[in-house]
Amino acid sequence: MSKDIPALYGSLVFNDKVMRNKLPKDMYKALKKTIQNGTHLELDVANSVAVAMKEWAVENGATHYTHWFQPMTGFTAEKHDSFISPTDGGEVIMDFSGKELVKGEPDASSFPSGGLRATFEARGYTAWDPTSPAFIKDNTLYIPTAFCSYSGEALDKKTPLLRSMEALSKEAVKMLKLLGRDDVTTVNTTVGPEQEYFLVDKELYNKRRDLIFCGRTLIGAPAPKGQEMEDHYFGALKPRVSAYMHDLDEELWKLSIPAKTKHNEVAPAQHELAPIFETANVAVDHNQLTMELMKKTAEKHGLVCLLHEKPFEGINGSGKHNNWSLTTNTGDNLLNPGKTPAENIQFLVFLMAVIKAVDDYADLMRISVAGAGNDHRLGGNEAPPAIVSIFLGDELTEVLKSIEEDRYFGKHETIQMDIGAHVLPHFTKDNTDRNRTSPFAFTGNKFEFRMLGSSTSVSNPNMVLNAAVAESLAQFYEELKEAEPGRMEEAVHELIKRAIRKHKKVLFNGNGYTEEWVEEAKRRGLYNLASTPEALKEFISDKNVKLLTEHHIFTKEEIFSRYEILLENYVKTIEIEAKTLHEMLAKDFLPAVSAYAGDVAKNAASKKAFLPSVSTASEETLVCSLSDAYEVLSSGLDSITEVLAQIREKTETSMQDAANTCLNEMLPLMDTLRKTADEAETKIPEGYLPYPTYDQLLFSV
Ligand code: ADP
Ligand code: MG
Repeated sequence: MSKDIPALYGSLVFNDKVMRNKLPKDMYKALKKTIQNGTHLELDVANSVAVAMKEWAVENGATHYTHWFQPMTGFTAEKHDSFISPTDGGEVIMDFSGKELVKGEPDASSFPSGGLRATFEARGYTAWDPTSPAFIKDNTLYIPTAFCSYSGEALDKKTPLLRSMEALSKEAVKMLKLLGRDDVTTVNTTVGPEQEYFLVDKELYNKRRDLIFCGRTLIGAPAPKGQEMEDHYFGALKPRVSAYMHDLDEELWKLSIPAKTKHNEVAPAQHELAPIFETANVAVDHNQLTMELMKKTAEKHGLVCLLHEKPFEGINGSGKHNNWSLTTNTGDNLLNPGKTPAENIQFLVFLMAVIKAVDDYADLMRISVAGAGNDHRLGGNEAPPAIVSIFLGDELTEVLKSIEEDRYFGKHETIQMDIGAHVLPHFTKDNTDRNRTSPFAFTGNKFEFRMLGSSTSVSNPNMVLNAAVAESLAQFYEELKEAEPGRMEEAVHELIKRAIRKHKKVLFNGNGYTEEWVEEAKRRGLYNLASTPEALKEFISDKNVKLLTEHHIFTKEEIFSRYEILLENYVKTIEIEAKTLHEMLAKDFLPAVSAYAGDVAKNAASKKAFLPSVSTASEETLVCSLSDAYEVLSSGLDSITEVLAQIREKTETSMQDAANTCLNEMLPLMDTLRKTADEAETKIPEGYLPYPTYDQLLFSV
C-alpha cells in the first residue's frame, strides 16, 4: 500500500498553510511580518495565534504544550503544561493564552549557567521563537523557544545563533547595497547537516556498561573484520536497517524535516542521513529533532542509535558535515559563482569574506566543535585534523592567484567589467568536491564544514561562521565604501589582491590526513588545537571576545560563563568514562579473567595428575599472561581512583586545571589499561565474557 507522502509531510507542524486557514487575515499578515522581518509581535496577535495553535493542536490530539529549548547541556529541554483550565461548574476547558505562548518561566537553577545566575535567582525565561514552526510530538504542542536568565543573559544555544544570523544579515545587506544591489533587504544563512550514526542491537547494547553510560566502548578488542574491505559504504541496506530508515523518514517528514538521502557509511553498522538545507535556525532545531527521533525510532526496532563521535576503537567514528551558504530574500545564493561578471564580483567578495573569516577565526571554528567525544576523531585519519584549512579546488585557487598576481586584468586596457569572465565560466561543481580530507571545503555553491562531531549541535559552528563572516564583510565595507562610482570593480580587485596575500596561508588543496600537512601548517603559523582543553583556552582570548561582543553575539560575561560550562562538560564526561571503566573492569572484566585463568589452571592440574608426563607449558603461559593482565588492571583501578580524586580537587580552584588533568593524566591511563584489557580479551573465550564483543556489536544487525 502506497502512502500519500505529500499529505503526511508536515502534518504535525503548525505551518504556513495551517496559519492561513486558522488565523484572521490581519493577524496572519502581522505574524508573517514578524517571521520575515523580525519585527516585534503585539499581544493581540500573540493571543490570536495562541487560540489558533491550541485549536489545531487539540484537533490533532494534543493535551499539553511545552516550551522547547536548547540549554547548554547539549540536549533539548521541555516542561509540559496541560491546556486544561477549570470552569466555575467544576469542569474544564482547553485553554491557551498569548502570554503563555510567548513567555515561559521554567526554574533555571538546574541548568548550566557557568556562574551567570546565582542560584537564589532561579528564574529563567523561555521566549517564543516564531521563526521556527511549532509542532506536535507525543500528544504535546512543542513551541520552539529561546532560553535566558532573569537579567537577559543567554542560557541556550538558540539565542546566540539568532543574534549571529542578524549580524551577518546586517553586514551582508550593507555590502550588497555598496555593490549596487538595492533589492536585497535580508540575507539568510542556510544549513544542511549530514548526520552519521551507528546502529547496534539493543539486547547486546544493554549488556555493556560503557555503551550505556558513555555512548562509546571503553574496552574491546577489534573484530577480525573491520572496514578494510570498504564493502559497507553505499552497500545494500539490510532489511532491519532499511525498515528503520523508512520508519525514521516518515517520522521526520511528519514534522516537515526534509530528510532526503540515506546510505550506509564506511564503517560496519554505520549509516548517514542528509536533509535538504533550510534556514540555519530551523536547520538547528530540525537536526536536534532528527537526533532525538533517530534514537527513539531505533528503540521501536530493537536497536540503539549511537551518536557518539567514536563508539568503536579502530574503525571510523561519526561526524556531521555542516553545509553552509548565504541566500538573499530575493532568492540568490551568494556563494554561487554565477555566469555574468556582475554576479562574479559579488561572488568574489563573499568568497573572500569567508576565506578571511576562517583564517582570522580558525581557533573559534575549532572551539565550536570541541568536546571530549570529537577529540577522538579529529586527526585520527578518518576525519580532518584539528587544523582548520580551506579547500577551494584548483580552478578557484587559480582565479584568486591570478587576481593576486595581476594577471587577471593584465591584458585589458580598461579595468572595467572583466572580473572572472575568463575563468569562472569553466568552473563547475564537479571539480570541487574531490577532496574529502579538508575540514572546510568549497563544494560548488556552498561551504562544507566537516569537523563537527556527530552529536554536536550545529548551532555553535554556524554561530561562529556567521559572526566571523559578518566581521570580514564589515572590514571589507570600510575598505570599499570610498570607491568612486563606476570604479567598484577595480576597488574589489584591489581588495581581493590585498586579502588573498594576507589569507592564502589558510588555503590547502592537498591531503589533510598526512603528517607533512601537519608540519606545513605549523610553518604557516596555523592553529593546531589538538584537544578540547587546549582549544577552549583560546575561546576567551581578546581577539575572540572582541569579535563576539562587537557583533552582539555574546556579552563578555556570557563568553566566560560558556567557557566554564564547556570545560565542566569536558571534565564531567571524562570523569564518567573513568568511573565506568573502573566499574567495568572491576565487575565485568576482572572476574572473567580470574574465572578463566582459574579454570585453565585447574584443568592443567588435573591433566598433570592424570598423566604426569604430559606438558602443560601452554596452559602455564596462558595463566601467567592472564595473571599479569589481572595485576596490571587491578592496580590500574587504584590509579583511576587516585586521578579521579585529583581531578575533583582541581575543579574547586580551576576548571581548566581539572580539564588538563583529564587530558594529560586520565586519558593516557585509560588508554594503557585498555591496551592491556584488549590484549587479554583476545585470549578469553566468549562464554567467559559477560558482555558482547566487537564482532557481535558490529555485525549483528
Ligand atoms: P554531497 O555533500 O554528498 O555531495 P550535496 O551536494 O547534495 O551532497 O549536499 C549535501 C548537503 O548540502 C545537503 O544537505 C544539501 O541540502 C546541502 N546544501 C545544498 N545546497 C546548500 C546551500 N545553498 N546551503 C546550505 N546547504 C546546502
Ligand atoms: Mg557532503
